Parts: sequence; C-alpha cells; structure tokens
Amino acid sequence: MIKTAPDAWQDIRDAVRALCAEFPDEYHRKIDEQRAYPEAFVDALTKAGWLAAMIPQEYGGSGLGLTEATVVMEEINRSGGNSGACHGQMYNMGTLLRHGSKAQKELYLPRIASGEWRLQSMGVTEPSTGTDTTRIKTTAVKKGDRYVINGQKVWISRVQHSDWMILLARTTPLAEVKKKSEGMSIFMVDLRAAEKSGLTVRPIPNMVNHETNELFFENLEIPEENLIGQEGQGFKYILDGLNAERTLIAAECIGDGYWFLDRVTKYASERVVFGRPIGQNQGVQFPIAESYIEVEAANLMRFESCALFDAGKPCGAEANMAKYLAAKASWEAANACIQFHGGFGFANEYDVERKFRETRLYQVAPISTNLILSYVAEHLLGLPRSF
Ligand SMILES: Cc1cc2nc3c(=O)[nH]c(=O)nc-3n(C[C@H](O)[C@H](O)[C@H](O)COP(=O)(O)OP(=O)(O)OC[C@H]3O[C@@H](n4cnc5c(N)ncnc54)[C@H](O)[C@@H]3O)c2cc1C
Repeated sequence: MIKTAPDAWQDIRDAVRALCAEFPDEYHRKIDEQRAYPEAFVDALTKAGWLAAMIPQEYGGSGLGLTEATVVMEEINRSGGNSGACHGQMYNMGTLLRHGSKAQKELYLPRIASGEWRLQSMGVTEPSTGTDTTRIKTTAVKKGDRYVINGQKVWISRVQHSDWMILLARTTPLAEVKKKSEGMSIFMVDLRAAEKSGLTVRPIPNMVNHETNELFFENLEIPEENLIGQEGQGFKYILDGLNAERTLIAAECIGDGYWFLDRVTKYASERVVFGRPIGQNQGVQFPIAESYIEVEAANLMRFESCALFDAGKPCGAEANMAKYLAAKASWEAANACIQFHGGFGFANEYDVERKFRETRLYQVAPISTNLILSYVAEHLLGLPRSF
C-alpha cells in the first residue's frame, strides 16, 4: 500500500480493513461478473455494526459522526469493494433521524441498526425531469388516512435489496405553491408490500454492477403515518441529507483513488519493458504523482466538510467541492492506472477495468459535475442564477 499520513481514525480503518480482507478481489470480481448483489459482504458489514455507525446509541447504533462513516466507506472502496451496494443506508437514515417523529425513530432505527430492516433506497429522480427536481410529476394525494401515489421514477438503486425506500412526491401541484421547492413531501415506502399493490419495479441493466431500477406507481396506497416531517417540506428535508451523501461519496472516491494508486505504483515498479521498470520513466511517474497530489488535496476538503457537518454547521460549499475534487481525482487515478497496466488493465482478473467503471459513475451521480460547478458559480461566487 502507498503511504498515507496516519490519522485519528486508525482503529476504525484497521477494523474495517480486517473485515474487508475476508472479501478479496475474487469475491468482488465474481459478484460483478454475475451482476449479483454482495449479500454476504453487506451482511458482514451490518452484523459488525458499520452500517449503523451514524444511528444514535439509544436506537442501537454506534452514535458516530459523518467523519467516521466516511472512513468506513473509504476503506470499503480502498479494499477493492464498492460502497455503492450499501452507502444509501448511511444518508437515508439521517433523513429519518433529523425529520422523523419519535414514533417513527423508535419503529425504524433499532430495526435498521440490528439489520432486521434495510433502508437502502431513495426515490427522487424522474425520467422526464432529471436534475430539475422541483418539477417532479409523481403525486401523493391524501385520501382519508392514506396517501395515493401515482407516477414514475428512474435510476432508483438497491430497491431489490432494501426493505424500505424514502420517496419524494408532490403533495401540492407546482402551480399552487409560492416557491417551486414547496409542496413536495417524503414518505417511507414498504417496498415488499408496495410491490403487491401498485408498485412495479423494472431493473435497468447498466455499465456498473449497480442494482438500479425504473419504478412505476399506480394507485399505490401508503398509510399517512409514513409521511416524514411536515407535508410540503420534503424537498428541504431531502436537500439536508444531500450534503452527507456528497461527503460520503467523496470519501468513496478517495478510497478508489488510493486503490488505483496502490495498484499502479506496484505494477509500474514490477513491470519491466526496455530493460527497466516502466515506473522509472518520468512519463509514467508524473501522471501517477499528479493523481496522488489530487487525491490528497480532495481528502483535505472531505475532512473539512465532515468537521463542519459533525459540528452542525453549514457545509454545502465544502460537501459539493469535496465531491467534485474527489470524483475528479479518482477518475484521473483510474485513467493512469488503466493506462500503465497496458493491455492487462483491460483484463478482468486485474480488477482495474471494474474499478474504472465504478468510479466513473461519480462524475454523474448522485449529482453531476456541471451542477456542482453551477452551485459554486451561483452560491459562492455570486454569478447570475442560471436556472
Ligand atoms: C447508477 C445510477 C444510480 C442512481 N441512483 C439513484 C437513486 O438511488 N435515487 C435517485 O433518485 N436517483 C439516482 N440516480 C440518478 C442520478 O442522481 C441522476 O442520473 C443525476 O442526478 C443526473 O440526472 P439525469 O440523469 O436526469 O441527467 P439530466 O438532468 O438529464 O442531465 C444530463 C446532463 O446534462 C447536464 N445538465 C443538465 N442541466 C444542466 C444545466 N442547467 N447546466 C449545465 N449542465 C446541465 C448534467 O450535468 C448532466 O451531465 C442514479 C443514477 C445512476 C446512473
């Protein structure tokens, strides 16, 4: 492994690394080839309590902060795994924790902490509106003590491996609200029950082994007690969770970045062409060194975002910038890694092509690079609003 400065979370790193070591490259490669879900890996993480890191102790979790949660995700990706299979729980649970009622927290959180229930899914994106979330067309209409859901979602991940989903739907039509961000609400959806009464799930085969789906809602009825927080405030609640999500994903990209750097430095030191290791050529060294600098710099912004979040301070700027820097750094590291593995970078057994595909996603999801640039231009630099 390449050297990284020791930090305050070495105990967590060592423990997660020990667990991950039981799931070597062959395991993740086979799961990827079979387009399967890493059930045993997620189960082991759950049993060890890592996926309940941010659940307060009174609800059966470890009561740790976002900082520690990001260290867990980083180590999973650095080990060669893909946190995309399970990271949803870390930030979805935060929405429930911050905005759920006491009764909801008592119902869901202990069961999530124990692993009885998984809360891995969040349904926001829609096919006809994309990033323009306030225009979503999925509606939730109150009927007696129930809400009736109609509409469509796309790219909703881990639905088949989660018991619950947080769903964003319009409860007041766009034309009837003062601000476009008002009139949307979030709900807990019992996925297995919903599949029997109005929810159709259609998997989307994709470039990464990422279980993601189109969802069709046709008069799906859900009990009113599944509304989280106040009706009409859902968009604000979802936004609250996004800073945690962006910071967690930044940490995953940093884990990926180190993984690529570990692999490429080893390979470039051992592979001899023209009578010397390829890593002796500066044309090979420099892109690797550049990637290392970029991953290290992204890491600083990630910890800045974590520190602010854990102190309860605004961290929108840092979370967005950390995600941007880390996704870019891991992508550059991926490019250097595949390039200097030559033909072997394309062979499945080296795992480089798999990780290359996995890290590419983070330029687009959960928020695309352009939208982060737009946030920085408008909110940090005061440039005129574009949309
Ligand atoms: C594997 C995968 C898993 C996902 N999982 C989930 C999930 O679990 N839940 C969920 O709700 N969503 C999920 N998503 C959706 C994801 O968040 C969106 O794909 C992403 O936010 C981009 O939205 P879009 O695909 O609709 O792109 P669009 O909004 O159609 O944008 C397309 C491109 O145009 C650019 N663009 C759009 N508008 C502008 C503008 N004004 N200025 C500059 N550029 C612009 C964007 O940057 C983007 O690159 C997932 C997506 C993928 C691929």
